[in-house]
Amino acid sequence: AGILYLVATPIGNLEDMTPRAVRTLREADLIAAEDTRGSVRLLNHFDIHTPMTSYHEYNKLSKAHVLIDRLLQGENVAVVTDAGTPGISDPGEELVRMALQNGITVSPVPGACAAVNALVCSGKPTRRFCFEAFLPMDKKERAEILEELKTETRTIVLYEAPHRLVRTLEELLGALGDRNITLARELTKKHETIAETTIGDALRAYREKEPRGEYVLVIEGRSRSELKREKQDAVAQSMTVEEHF
Ligand code: SAM
Repeated sequence: AGILYLVATPIGNLEDMTPRAVRTLREADLIAAEDTRGSVRLLNHFDIHTPMTSYHEYNKLSKAHVLIDRLLQGENVAVVTDAGTPGISDPGEELVRMALQNGITVSPVPGACAAVNALVCSGKPTRRFCFEAFLPMDKKERAEILEELKTETRTIVLYEAPHRLVRTLEELLGALGDRNITLARELTKKHETIAETTIGDALRAYREKEPRGEYVLVIEGRSRSELKREKQDAVAQSMTVEEHF
């Protein structure tokens, strides 16, 4: 069988395309791209002329079968998404699972990932972190995740679109309180800014000036000692209530 390559592409700066990514895409039998039109520009820039097919959110299940068939026939398939690492808030996961179930080798061609690069530039603890990607759109699910994040002690990394940023900051402020946050914007691009602030201050600023560009939010986790103290207080309180009755 062929090999399924997950090829990372730049998140803004074309110089972040690795020589290995270029070679892998050139040598593959087929490129499965999230947005074929967007990828054409990238591929032309690097003089890559491999045949391309679409593999995106809306055809990922049906298309995965087609791609698996081609891999089983011995072809090498390279997956690229609009930006960054395939499978990270981008299609890829299902295809990888099916490939592994079919005994196909899956191989990474590493490169940019917005979440990791925002985290390492945030100055917040990197030893333990959780990646929540985009908060779910479904109201109930969203509320559940925000509830879970209240007691999260690891650094929290989120993705958000500019037109939803204010609403998300409002909800984060309501759920987590006014924590320190880093807003990593337009990473690797001309207008890159990495701003350390608090959720409340960010909210005030963005209510005045509409957010633009792509954002990663890096939020400090809950303090472990504070959380422990709170839990002890809650236990002590419930004991006094019991004594009372
Ligand atoms: N697969 C990508 C990766 O590896 O980072 C993520 C794809 S996801 C659909 C797109 C989101 O990633 C954006 O909404 C934004 O939150 C974040 N993002 C992508 N590029 C970025 C950049 N240059 N600067 C800041 N955030 C970025």
